[in-house]
Amino acid sequence: MKYELIIEKLKIESEIEKLNKNFRKYIEQVFSPVFLNKLDRVFKEPLIIEDFKEKSNVMAITIGSQISVNTKMFNELTTDRAMVYIIHELFHVLQNKPQFNNIRRINKMLGMATMSKINEANINKFLTGKSQNIYSNYKDEFLSYCSNFAFDWSLAPSLKNEYYSILSNSGIFNMKSEWWLKRFKK
Ligand SMILES: [Zn+2]
Repeated sequence: MKYELIIEKLKIESEIEKLNKNFRKYIEQVFSPVFLNKLDRVFKEPLIIEDFKEKSNVMAITIGSQISVNTKMFNELTTDRAMVYIIHELFHVLQNKPQFNNIRRINKMLGMATMSKINEANINKFLTGKSQNIYSNYKDEFLSYCSNFAFDWSLAPSLKNEYYSILSNSGIFNMKSEWWLKRFKK
């Protein structure tokens, strides 16, 4: 008899059906097949996404490897928009896990490239495209905000190519997918 090791594919469980249903489709666009395999190996259980109980305008937060979302606000978003937030938070989860040091390193490289060109006072504006405060330490946010595609590249146009090279050279991301093409089209 032949035994096969069956590896469950990473999925999420939340109160928002459209997220549960579409998560896999999106992460297949975000990550390279090799990296997806690693995700499937490391996460032996589905990623549980909790409802954000407090009344607040915060859409989603991650503490350690726990993502919490504002279900009410998520229900009003299109799937595409909702997944932007989930992928943003997923990048935080990976950064916080020792098995994904390479993700942490990518964020650091993006951060170094950014800070060599953007004045610290303008980092939030660069990340979000608006003059608004982000809720966490900006140093953890460079990779996560790649999901939002709100970067204000006009603050340092050459950064767009630098970001693309860093992401592409890592082998972690599926840069030819529509997900990434949308974010880095010339
Ligand atoms: Zn964030």
